Amino acid sequence: MAGIDVGPLAGVPLAVKDNISTAGVRTTAGSALLRDYIPPHDATVVARAEAAGGVVIGKTNLDEFGMGSSSETSFFGGVRHPEDRGRIAGGSSGGSAVAVARGIVPLALGTDTGGSVRQPAAFCGVFGFKPSYGRLSRSGVIAYASSLDQVGLFAHDAEDAGLLLRALSGHDPRDATSARRPEAELDERPATLEGVRVGRIRELHGAGVDAGVREALAGFAAALEMAGATVVDVELPLAEAAVASYYLIATSEASSNLARFDGTLYGARQGVSGEGHDKGARATRSAGFGPEVQRRILMGSFALSAGFHDAYAARAARVRRRISDQLAGLFSGVDVLLSPTAPSVAWRLGERLHDPLSMYVADVATCLANLAGLPALSLPAGRGEHGLPVGAQLMAPAWREAALLGWASAAAAAAAAAAAAAAAAALSAE
Ligand code: GLN
Repeated sequence: MAGIDVGPLAGVPLAVKDNISTAGVRTTAGSALLRDYIPPHDATVVARAEAAGGVVIGKTNLDEFGMGSSSETSFFGGVRHPEDRGRIAGGSSGGSAVAVARGIVPLALGTDTGGSVRQPAAFCGVFGFKPSYGRLSRSGVIAYASSLDQVGLFAHDAEDAGLLLRALSGHDPRDATSARRPEAELDERPATLEGVRVGRIRELHGAGVDAGVREALAGFAAALEMAGATVVDVELPLAEAAVASYYLIATSEASSNLARFDGTLYGARQGVSGEGHDKGARATRSAGFGPEVQRRILMGSFALSAGFHDAYAARAARVRRRISDQLAGLFSGVDVLLSPTAPSVAWRLGERLHDPLSMYVADVATCLANLAGLPALSLPAGRGEHGLPVGAQLMAPAWREAALLGWASAAAAAAAAAAAAAAAAALSAE
């Protein structure tokens, strides 16, 4: 008997980061400026999730406009770590990571401009995935840095992430950067790691990475080898320039994207009516944007300004191109690149809030994938300092999401088997 096609996500509860538009439901981007903004349309990814049967049950907290690594800068207050309330959950998609980690929803949407899905996934011990640039529509996503932004997914495993990815992907005429890719491309998923060449990026495993994270990654690499992969060390000399390039590009694009929030079309209007546009806009922006967002706008405007454009913005773009080239060069010798997702476990609330540079540098591994437009994911790789979760990042060539998810699934199984064997050995030694 033929039934009704209820869709691949029938009845699945979803959480959506609050910089992704939901028609008729407040979408604030964590900003005072948009605290009462109700979008008239759904973002394409939301519309597609619902068309596939998914049910959006809530919006999740984030760093204001997605600018941050700790989910502490929201106008509505900070997000706390699911296991230790004295620590951050990571960011900027911290709320979505926690919603999945705590079992509130099995799947959540985030955005990833420089690591905002993968880093909180790593800190909270869940699976976080950023597709290739152009795979998922950005229509209806409040823009941070348009050449880097991509919608990302939180899940418990690669299978669930793959299911959601398939439901959301496909060309969208509303987004000029949305790619046209063959539909079947996402189905060719490898089942094993047998013969897969894994390149361990040397620069991301050394100085600056906490000992517990290094140990967890070493255990993870050993599990990959047990499952038939070959792990080799590879070099990415320009890794040291990635954070500088990323922050110049991200803030430059942010300063232009955020110019629309002047209290006229968007944003809670400040100032006395009858005052000139400039004065009202200035009052709106000074009152509406938090200190980190203001810092980003200043940095970006500076990098783009006439006298400094060549020294900063143009140079950052050149470094970006060379980083992409170096990564492409590495992929001629290996299938997938491995690194820690972040150099540490989740830090304490407030610890880095007044030292922005210490937050920025922690994005070194994740921002590479955004600079080069590559698909990358973070999967749980054991525990590090204070017994907190550590994430391993796997990064693949553009459009190889299916392979990446297949390998991640095999890697998770291998890591679980290795952990079980270690536990059994410990028991029998007692
Ligand atoms: N931490 C990075 C930043 O603040 C990345 C944020 C993101 O991916 N949205 O820019």
